[in-house]
Amino acid sequence: MSLFVQASGVLLGIFSILGGKSIGLDDTGMKHFPIFVALEGRRVVLSGGGEAALAKLRLLLKTQAALTVFAPNPAPEITIWAAEGRLTLNRRALEAGDCRDAVLVYAASEDAAEDARISAIARAEGALVNIVDNLEDSQFITPAIVDRDPVTVAIGTEGAAPVLARAIKADLEARLPASLGTLARIGKAFRKAVDVLPMGRRRRDFWADYYFKSGPRALEQGGETDVQDALDTLLSRFRTRQDRAGHVAFVGAGPGDPDLLTLKARKALDQADVVIHDRLVTPQILDLARREAILIDAGKQGFGPSMSQDDINALIVQHGLDGAQVVRLKGGDPTVFGRLDEEVDAVIAAGIGWHVVPGITAASASVAGIGQSLTKRGRNASVRLLTGHDMKGFADHDWKALARTGEVAAIYMGKASARFIQGRLIMHGADRATPVTVVENASRPDQRILSTTLDALPADLGRAAFTGPALTFYGLAPRAAEATLAQMPASQELA
Ligand code: SAH
Repeated sequence: MSLFVQASGVLLGIFSILGGKSIGLDDTGMKHFPIFVALEGRRVVLSGGGEAALAKLRLLLKTQAALTVFAPNPAPEITIWAAEGRLTLNRRALEAGDCRDAVLVYAASEDAAEDARISAIARAEGALVNIVDNLEDSQFITPAIVDRDPVTVAIGTEGAAPVLARAIKADLEARLPASLGTLARIGKAFRKAVDVLPMGRRRRDFWADYYFKSGPRALEQGGETDVQDALDTLLSRFRTRQDRAGHVAFVGAGPGDPDLLTLKARKALDQADVVIHDRLVTPQILDLARREAILIDAGKQGFGPSMSQDDINALIVQHGLDGAQVVRLKGGDPTVFGRLDEEVDAVIAAGIGWHVVPGITAASASVAGIGQSLTKRGRNASVRLLTGHDMKGFADHDWKALARTGEVAAIYMGKASARFIQGRLIMHGADRATPVTVVENASRPDQRILSTTLDALPADLGRAAFTGPALTFYGLAPRAAEATLAQMPASQELA
């Protein structure tokens, strides 16, 4: 599916209406590439006079194309449009020569043989052809459109889900204020005047302020003349403004579902000049970064080769000193096993401004996935966050306390050290039947849950062969499994 927004930055929440799981990315690539074709004064030909023709003509009449229709029996609407001079009507079938100089040809006869004949003529005469309701043989397709001229949103599903396209369109229609078109039209006429601002950040900030703050406010208060005044005032303010200093936002990307990003994270991504992300951040989330932003993968493979922490610190500092709005994007919450402090120290040492945007940590997303609470009256009044990565840290750990009944721990990066953890806990007297739950890819479409016991953990984990990030809960069973756990044989994998 593709979604194309002509004026960048207008739409932020598009993924939220898709019910959580992003479906915007197809590994095999887009079959159709969205473009906007200049039609002003150019010849567009349509063959057909029935319902299909009417539907397309209603859209095409919004353009400035020179529309020509071929229809032996045109619907009354078409004859009216022709009488009004909005299109040229030929009361006959389209013939060879009729598509010469046409940019686009629509075969809307609702007759397969006739449409194929027209398609052949169109192709021979060098026009792109669309056969209505025939994706296979069409050279281009017409998307669903949200029209806030000059802002146009085109929605396409490559024929896969017309219902979805309609739902998205309805949502956008409701969400995009009717004033958007007006603001864009006035803004467009003002573009030349804004040339006095230096290119780049200052100019971008000017437009962001206009479209999202001062413009809508002025339009609401006093109509179009106030918008003109607001533009003048804004421009004189920006002419004297100093360019923004570089800044680093340490932003939590959450567990992977783009819907679990905070609004602040979305805003930071939308304003970023540079996004430096780690391996846990999903492509669906990176897609939300400002189109012009530079994306840098500072991914670090567990124990494997990786960009060193010093290199990452240096990279962040370099872009900050450059004056960029840097987003350091970390999976989950940046303050949980994220080596945040080393990066903050480097940024402070360089004299760059910074702040932290918290995110939903893997433990929160995983516990939600199994319908449990991290803490519960009468069971555990505290919960530990442990890392399985740092073995030295583990040696020092207070296993004795953790081995007591009712204790709960969320173990990050715990896959490789499952056997070690099991050994320590049993050595310190933990019950072998203590529930253990491993959640892989929490919050993502491919989330998997392994419900087991301390006793069976290493074996079951080996069998499950998780490849995604996985969080281990010691002392917690999925709510659904809790009741039956006593009777369960050794372990059970839940879907
Ligand atoms: N700052 C991150 C944790 C970084 S450590 C946070 O707050 O979540 C990386 C570990 O986090 C992974 O090895 C895994 O144990 C856990 N993790 C991250 N995302 C996860 C996810 N979607 N599902 C399960 N575990 C996840």
